[in-house]
Amino acid sequence: MQTVLTEQTQLPLTCTCSGACCHDKTVPLNPAELAFAAAARGLPPEAFAQAHTTNLTHLKFEPVSNVCSKHVKNRCGQLGKDNRCLIHPQRPYACRLYPLGHKRQGEVEAYVHEGGVFPCIAPCPGVLKLPQMTVAAYLKGQEVGPWQAAHNRYLELVQDLSEGAFIMALETGLYALKPDDTVAAWQQASGLILEPKSTDPLQKSAIDAPWLYRLFLPEININENTPDNFAQQHAEMLQQSAQEAFATLTEQNDHLKTSAMMHAMALKLALALGVQAADLAVFWVKQLQVMGERS
Ligand code: SF4
Ligand code: SF4
Repeated sequence: MQTVLTEQTQLPLTCTCSGACCHDKTVPLNPAELAFAAAARGLPPEAFAQAHTTNLTHLKFEPVSNVCSKHVKNRCGQLGKDNRCLIHPQRPYACRLYPLGHKRQGEVEAYVHEGGVFPCIAPCPGVLKLPQMTVAAYLKGQEVGPWQAAHNRYLELVQDLSEGAFIMALETGLYALKPDDTVAAWQQASGLILEPKSTDPLQKSAIDAPWLYRLFLPEININENTPDNFAQQHAEMLQQSAQEAFATLTEQNDHLKTSAMMHAMALKLALALGVQAADLAVFWVKQLQVMGERS
């Protein structure tokens, strides 16, 4: 269950700064967020990805024991010993929004929180003694705008990559000639993305190394950029590279490999946006079969 909010809803949104919500969570990390977080830690993006991400798409959490209760909690690797975020000025969109969430269905958008009771109250009952504020004031204070715009630009890129996979499978005649092989290649790519066999974030799986780097570690200088500009520039670079590399392919095997890889790229980027990628993988394969039968 989710509680839908308006911008004028008043909530106890003043944080106790206990770090409670930086444990036992998953924080998706899109490529712009990865680059900005790396800069906040003074690391090159590749080194940050190796040390601090799970499969490039999420911030790494590490198990820590609570000596009193022996309860093992997973703690975000960016949470300092003083319970302050080490990348606070460049923290990802999901962290800026928390404890709120954002829902988008077509043109309809809404801010929400999980459950019927405000989620901070259970871990941090002290929030009830702190000042309340409106959702609008909270979002403004968290400087959500450019991060949300980057998130939305990457959602469009997921769609573009997926469309590229469909075009490569359907418009080249690949699916008509090899429907079973095409479906099998997409399903195999989905499996490798959703259940990676290696813990090395940069290990090649369904995506060739140069494309994995183009997708998650683009050479874009963050000093001259905001996250939304970064995402826009990144999307344009990726589209241009794909156009140059894929438009001239003529061999059926290349079409097969490329369509499965573009499907994998779309799924991996979806994971990095916190989208239910497993459902998306199944939906896209079904769509491929439906559209393939029609064409
Ligand atoms: S649960 Fe809420 S009040 Fe507690 S640390 Fe997180 S954001 Fe702050
Ligand atoms: S990135 Fe910062 S705010 Fe987000 S979960 Fe980690 S420590 Fe908390």
